[in-house]
Amino acid sequence: MIRFTPNARGSTRIEETSTFRDALRQQRQFRLEQLSELSAAPVRAALSTGATAEQVEAQAQVARLLRAAALSALADVDAALLRIEQGVFGRCMECSGDIQLARLEILPMAALCMPCQRRQEIAPSDRATTKTTPHETTR
Ligand SMILES: [Zn+2]
Repeated sequence: MIRFTPNARGSTRIEETSTFRDALRQQRQFRLEQLSELSAAPVRAALSTGATAEQVEAQAQVARLLRAAALSALADVDAALLRIEQGVFGRCMECSGDIQLARLEILPMAALCMPCQRRQEIAPSDRATTKTTPHETTR
C-alpha cells in the first residue's frame, strides 16, 4: 500500500532539512570562531614577535581579506538557515527551480542551482551593466 505524504504536491522536494540545518549551524559556528580568531590575530602577532609596523600592517591586510571572505560565507550560511525557516530551502533563488540534492549535500548554503551558478560565474557583471533585455532576440 502506497501512502502519499501530504506535501506530495510537489511544493518542496527536500522534506528533511534537519541534517542541512545541523551542517549549516556547524558552518556558522566555524565561521564565527574564524572571525574572532582573525580579529585577534594581528594584535597577537605584534605582541608576541615584536614585528615592525609594516609587518603588522601586512598581516592586518591579510586578516582583513580573510575576514571579508569569512563574513560573506557567514552571510551565505545565515541566508540558507533563513531559507530553511521559510520553507524554501533547496530552491534556486534565481530560477526557482530545485537545487540538486547532491549539490546541497556538498554545499548546503548554495543559493543557486548549477546552471544559474555557472551563468553568474561566466558573466558576474551582466546584471550590473545593461543586460536587462525585456525580450530575448535569439532567433
Ligand atoms: Zn537556477
